[in-house]
Amino acid sequence: MKHIGPHVSAAGGVESAPLNAQSVGASAFALFTKNQRQWFAPPLTKKSIDAFKENCAKAGYEPQYILPHDSYLINLGHPTEEGIERSRDSFVGELQRCQQLGLTMLNFHPGSSLKEISDEECLDRIAESINLALDKTEGVTAVIENTAGQGSNMGFSFYHLAHIIDKVKDKSRVGICIDTCHTFTAGYDLKEHYEEVWSEFGDVVGFQYLRAIHLNDSMKPLGSRVDRHHSIGKGLLGIDFFKKLMKDPRFDEIPLILETPDESLWAEEIALLHSFE
Ligand SMILES: [Zn+2]
Ligand SMILES: [Zn+2]
Repeated sequence: MKHIGPHVSAAGGVESAPLNAQSVGASAFALFTKNQRQWFAPPLTKKSIDAFKENCAKAGYEPQYILPHDSYLINLGHPTEEGIERSRDSFVGELQRCQQLGLTMLNFHPGSSLKEISDEECLDRIAESINLALDKTEGVTAVIENTAGQGSNMGFSFYHLAHIIDKVKDKSRVGICIDTCHTFTAGYDLKEHYEEVWSEFGDVVGFQYLRAIHLNDSMKPLGSRVDRHHSIGKGLLGIDFFKKLMKDPRFDEIPLILETPDESLWAEEIALLHSFE
């Protein structure tokens, strides 16, 4: 069966996230464990950690269906020493927060060259950042998200993802999250060539690394390299794509996360998607 849910708000504390997920009928969810637009965050309190675990247990959310996302400020491929140090420290902090919450994955965007270093150098720096962070933590898998390739963002090609994985030492703690909107605007035609795109993913990266899906429709066209999510069935990927994905057993038993823009539709989107199973 499919496990579907949105990226919910954790305003008021991480413990509110499972309650927000439950209120829209979700069987999976994503959250930020700290303010995603700030470097600093106060440590999680024991009270908050305990309440988070209790709320997850009560609502039946197991860690493999919960996908925390790191801060947008972190750039693990940053071209400068100062920039990369700050990002690496912050990334370790994010992994530690996941560990404290009993979570097993951390989803992040690979990084950006800021056009100051080559793509290959940037990908190598990202892999090294992951290696350093995994050495300092335990039990949490680094889940790299593919991107739309806006600006100098890396990770829009399946080859970028494979390059990073290849250089990560502990393969048991690295995984991939495929965002359907990003994949489409990066130039992979999931609408007209569904099977070909997934088989290319399988060949280049490998389904054994797939840990999660971000299930988003796209406002922008194929290959536009622009990241603008749309509600399910309202964008250029269209409803038939989502019907196919819901019937595809390769996406069972991993979190399918909605990052769709209109949260008033989340409950409806989840019910609609389940109706296609
Ligand atoms: Zn995403
Ligand atoms: Zn996006």
